[in-house]
Amino acid sequence: MTTILKFGGTSVATADVIERVCRIVRGTPHPVVVVSATAGTTNALIGAARAAAGGDVVAVETIMARLTASHDDLLRRAAGKDDGEATRALEDLAQRTKALLRSVAILRECSARSQDAIVSYGELASSEIVAAALRSRGIAAQAVPATRIVVTDDAFGGAAPAFEETYARARTELSPIVGRGQVPVVTGFIGATREGVTTTLGRGASDYTAAILAAGLGADECLIYTDVSGVMSADPRMVEGARPIPRLSYAEAAELSYFGAKVLHPRAVLPAIEAGIPVRILNTFAADDPGTTITARAEADGSIVKATTSLGGLGLLTVQGSGMSGIPGFAAKVFDTTAAEGISVLMISQASSETSICLVVPADTAERLKAALERMLAKELAHHDVERVLVERPIAVVAAVGEGMRGTPGVAARVFGALGRGGVNVIAIAQGSSERNISFCVSEADQAKAVRAIHAEFGSSRPVPSAPPPASASSVR
Ligand code: ASP
Ligand code: MG
Repeated sequence: MTTILKFGGTSVATADVIERVCRIVRGTPHPVVVVSATAGTTNALIGAARAAAGGDVVAVETIMARLTASHDDLLRRAAGKDDGEATRALEDLAQRTKALLRSVAILRECSARSQDAIVSYGELASSEIVAAALRSRGIAAQAVPATRIVVTDDAFGGAAPAFEETYARARTELSPIVGRGQVPVVTGFIGATREGVTTTLGRGASDYTAAILAAGLGADECLIYTDVSGVMSADPRMVEGARPIPRLSYAEAAELSYFGAKVLHPRAVLPAIEAGIPVRILNTFAADDPGTTITARAEADGSIVKATTSLGGLGLLTVQGSGMSGIPGFAAKVFDTTAAEGISVLMISQASSETSICLVVPADTAERLKAALERMLAKELAHHDVERVLVERPIAVVAAVGEGMRGTPGVAARVFGALGRGGVNVIAIAQGSSERNISFCVSEADQAKAVRAIHAEFGSSRPVPSAPPPASASSVR
C-alpha cells in the first residue's frame, strides 16, 4: 500500500521548504512523491517559448540563464553536497531546452507540441532536485519522468490520459521502486503519447497526475500539499473567522471551486475519488494542520452551510418583457445567442412569471452580449414582447454551499434573513435542485458584506467539528 504525496510549486521553491518536504516524506510509509515545477517556472518557460517564436533571442537567453541558475542554486542548497546524478540531469535538461528554444527561434513559430517539450523542463528539473534532496538525507530516492507512465493522446497543451494503460504502467514502473524501499519522485503535469512525444495535461495539472497515480496504484490516500491549510469556509481576506473545512464531499468541493475557491480543481482529483481514495489538502508550511479531506460522499456532521464563496467581476443581464411568457423556445434563443458569442454563463434565474430571464456573465462580456441579444430579439423588441435588455455591473455571485442544506427546511430563510439584517440587497436568486448550493447576486460593493453575513449566520451556530484522524505525515514538523 502506498500514499501519494503531491507537492505544488511553492512547496518545492526554496531549500527551506524542500527540507519540510523531506521530513514529510520521511514520516510517510511507502510514499510516492509527485512534484510541480518550482513556483513561476512554467510561466517563465512559456514566456521563453513566446519570445523564441517572436525571434527575441536575447529575451530567451535571459530567461534561461535565470532559470538554470536558480535551479542549480536550489539543487546545491537543497541537497547540500554535490549530487552528480542530479547535476548532470539538470545540465542535460538545460541543454535540451535551449536547443528546443533555438529551433523555435529559427522557425519563428512555437507549436503546442514544441511548447509542451519546453515547459516539461520545469517538472523534470524539480523532480531531480527533490530526489537529490532526499538522497542527501539518506532517503533512497529516484526521479521518475511521468513520460514513462502517463500515456496520453496528442492534444498538446491539454492532453487526455489513457487511463487503463497509464494505471498499468504506474504499477510496472513504480511498484518495484517502492518495493525496494525507494521513493519515486514523479513529475506532475507531463505525459507522453504512445510514440513517446512529450505532452502536458493542462495548467495546474500536477494534482491530476497525483490522482491518476493514486488510482493506478490503489493508494491509501492522495495527499495534496500546498501553501494553505485546506479549503476555507470563506475567503480569509473577507472573513476574519474563516477556517479550514475538515471534510468535504466531492460534490461540495466542486460547487465551491465553481465560484472562486481556488485551492484545487476538483475535476483534477476525480480519478482518486472514483477509486474510493480520500484526497487531503494539506499545508507544507504547517504540516500538523488537519487540512481538508475530500471523499466521494460526506458524512453528516451536523453542519448546514459549510462554506460561503463568492466571485466578483460579473455582469447581470436581464431580458424583460411580458410578451415572453409562454412562448416555447424563447429561453433557447437567449442561450443560443450567448453560446454563439462564446460567453459562459455562471448563473441563471427565471421567475415562474416568465417575464424576465436573468443571466450572469463575466462583466467584460456583458455589453457585447446585450448588443447580440438586441440584434437577435429585434422583432420581439419592436413588438414589445420584450421590453428591454438590461445590464447591471459590476455584480458578484455569492454561494452558500453544504450537503447539510439538502432537505433541511428553513435554510433559505436563514440565508436571506441574515442578508436582510446585514443590509444587503439581493438582485437575483438561484438554487440548483441538488440543494447543495444557494446562489444569489449582489452588487459587487456588497460582496464581502454578504459573505460575512452568511458565514456568521451558519459558521457561529454550527457545532465545532471533531478533528479528523491525523494525516500520516502530521506527526512531522
Ligand atoms: N507546473 C504546471 C503549471 O504551472 C503544473 C502545476 O503546477 O500543477 O501549470
Ligand atoms: Mg502549480
